[in-house]
Amino acid sequence: MRKSFPRTHAALVKEGFGYIAAGTCSDCGAGIFWYRTPLGKRLPVDARRNLPHFWICGARRNKSSPAPRQLDLFEAGGGVKSSGRAPA
Ligand SMILES: [Zn+2]
Repeated sequence: MRKSFPRTHAALVKEGFGYIAAGTCSDCGAGIFWYRTPLGKRLPVDARRNLPHFWICGARRNKSSPAPRQLDLFEAGGGVKSSGRAPA
């Protein structure tokens, strides 16, 4: 069950939210406003849609896809040949 989210800055303040600062999402680069919730937590609010940004952040959703295997760069060839013994 999702409580309806205050849709304006004034409504947020009335609900006990405190505006902290503007910023950008580190995942997708969207504009966000940081608020402190009535419970004292920091909440990023999407600047365009005035919703908690993590509800709608596309980049965050894509994080479940596997990352490219960067180890392959080092395993593919070249580099130091192993002597077969682990270093002491
Ligand atoms: Zn985002």
